Amino acid sequence: MNETQADIVVVGGGMVGLASAIALRDRGLDVVLCDPGEARARASFGNAGVISRGSIFPMSGPALWGRLPAYLRNADRGLRLRHAHLLRVMPWTAHVLAAARASAWRRAAEALLPLTSAAYAAHEELAARAGTAHHLRRTGWIKLYRTDAAFADAALERAILARHGVAMEIVDGPALHALEPALVRPYARATLLPETGSVQDPGGLIEACGRLFSGLGGRTIRAAATRLEPEAGGWRIRYDGGHVRARQAVVAAGAASAEILRLLGYRFAFAAERGYHRHYALHPDSPPLTRPVLDTGAGSILAPMATGRVRVLSGVELNARHAPPDHAQIDAASREAAGTLRLGGPLDNEPWLGSRPSTPDGLPVIGRAPRHEGLILAFGHGHIGLSTGPITGQLVADIATDRPASLPLAPFAPDRLLRWPRPWQGSTV
Ligand SMILES: Cc1cc2nc3c(=O)[nH]c(=O)nc-3n(C[C@H](O)[C@H](O)[C@H](O)COP(=O)(O)OP(=O)(O)OC[C@H]3O[C@@H](n4cnc5c(N)ncnc54)[C@H](O)[C@@H]3O)c2cc1C
Repeated sequence: MNETQADIVVVGGGMVGLASAIALRDRGLDVVLCDPGEARARASFGNAGVISRGSIFPMSGPALWGRLPAYLRNADRGLRLRHAHLLRVMPWTAHVLAAARASAWRRAAEALLPLTSAAYAAHEELAARAGTAHHLRRTGWIKLYRTDAAFADAALERAILARHGVAMEIVDGPALHALEPALVRPYARATLLPETGSVQDPGGLIEACGRLFSGLGGRTIRAAATRLEPEAGGWRIRYDGGHVRARQAVVAAGAASAEILRLLGYRFAFAAERGYHRHYALHPDSPPLTRPVLDTGAGSILAPMATGRVRVLSGVELNARHAPPDHAQIDAASREAAGTLRLGGPLDNEPWLGSRPSTPDGLPVIGRAPRHEGLILAFGHGHIGLSTGPITGQLVADIATDRPASLPLAPFAPDRLLRWPRPWQGSTV
């Protein structure tokens, strides 16, 4: 039985956990990271890599009500759900419905803006230290609309972005072809968000962050934490074969976080939003895709990755984290992608599947646990955890070292999701 001592133990080694471990090491703490080390099990491995100041809109918004009939019939390409599962995650479902109002949507966007605004600079710094700056680019990203009606439907989103000073250009059909010649499908309108950046090898970034952490003297235990036990003066984190004792603990285990915290009696309104990707080569005669694009009509993202591959990413599948894969959504996204770009054959035998850690109000959980001393929570980053992971790491280090946080943390307080539907109400931003 191995016994390890540390100042602080971080449970989970995705973007959020690794960034936290690195930031805590930077503050001089003796840090142990506990993670099973399965690269493809991380949402941080398989995402689109988009880092956008404008990614401030939760899934639950005022448009939800109009889309609900299509969602329930599984007729919307962006969302596929198992009806029984919606009942199993009832607190999450109830919160989502309670938050589906324009006022809550605006407040959530306002609360997320400081986080997304700090995201790119935090990535630049991390990539420079991890040696992955060549995979970080600031090319902007494009939201594509197949019809004028679909573009009109996004008017509130554009108004909120404009109010917050997020740079945006509206591009019409012919200009779009000049901007992104790889697109072969005609689109009615598009929105370019030029401040947006992207990571072209998210999995490579995570591996490089692991090396950076080790180089800073951080220690990693390749195992899943099985129990978190409070004890005099701190925490004992058990895993198969040993335990770590530390004064403080951080739970940053992505979509597994709520299950881990259940063992301590916390019942978070929480769900896994599953997503898939598959890689393709572009046809040799196609111009390269130069930036990620969101095809709103297909409910999927197409993102250029390192070594010339295009990553086709599905929308959301609401199902249990460990349920068998259902390839219907990524197959549909791939068919749509073949009409949008000149694709060659698929490069993967099996599509990748991962889970976005989802809170019903679209805001992450970042803060001290309400009922346990020395326990810090950092999870639930939903669709923006790759981008906001590095800045979250700095916030975790602020909390652990009792420094004033560099951003307002009140909207991310854990206890908001431990009560029956009550979306973020206040305004500290
Ligand atoms: C299809 C798709 C596209 C996306 N696109 C984007 C995007 O463009 N931009 C963006 O910012 N975000 C995007 N995201 C979201 C982003 O990937 C996630 O929000 C983010 O990766 C979450 O990071 P994390 O560290 O919290 O979780 P993860 O990366 O999932 O890491 C959690 C880690 O905890 C470990 N773990 C689990 N249980 C235990 C345990 N018991 N003990 C120890 N460790 C444990 C896991 O093995 C894993 O290593 C996308 C997600 C998907 C699925």
